[in-house]
Amino acid sequence: MRLLIAEDDPQLGDGLTIWLRQDGHAVDWVKDGQAADLALKSGDYDLLLLDLGLPRQEGMAVLRALRGRGQSLPVLILTARDAVHDKIAGLDGGADEYLVKPVSLDELSARVRALLRRAAGHARPCLRLGELVLDPAMRQVTLAGEPIELSAREFALLQVLMRHPGRVMSRAQLEAAVYGWKDEPDSNALEVHIHRLRKKLGVERIRTLRGIGYTMPGE
Ligand code: CA
Repeated sequence: MRLLIAEDDPQLGDGLTIWLRQDGHAVDWVKDGQAADLALKSGDYDLLLLDLGLPRQEGMAVLRALRGRGQSLPVLILTARDAVHDKIAGLDGGADEYLVKPVSLDELSARVRALLRRAAGHARPCLRLGELVLDPAMRQVTLAGEPIELSAREFALLQVLMRHPGRVMSRAQLEAAVYGWKDEPDSNALEVHIHRLRKKLGVERIRTLRGIGYTMPGE
């Protein structure tokens, strides 16, 4: 999944980026409200982690503009403002979750997973395709009950494919879901990850549609 962090505190922004990348997400980080607004207009994100006290444009203004455009991605506010009226304003303004700093990173990961799950309309937390089961919360993949070891990138890639069984995902869609801005993929990195996934899961599970993209056949 592709996340946007809007946070002007360099240390926190850096820490959050590293932490959420370890969770297998593609993460972009912007340091002011205007940059957040611009990035969100691309429509490329699955979730926004939003600080309220941002330079150039307040977090609440970013949120209002986002919802004003009809964009429904989940928004998690992460702020030092702990007053009840701020929480109410944030949630009424269209945020899905409101966390007060300092936050436990493990809890943050769990909230992010819950919001992404809800947004994807998956009542069940696990993704299943035949005997292949992916558990986003536990970051586990099993095949016929046997655990499969995957790298963070392989896991992220598989998660995107399994969320859209039977649908062809383009190279660009897969790369966008797996890589952040700062680590641009080299030209054949995606093929390398797909190759490794096939080796671990079975060649037939991921089909190549030459020049179009990749798909995992549905059941
Ligand atoms: Ca701030």
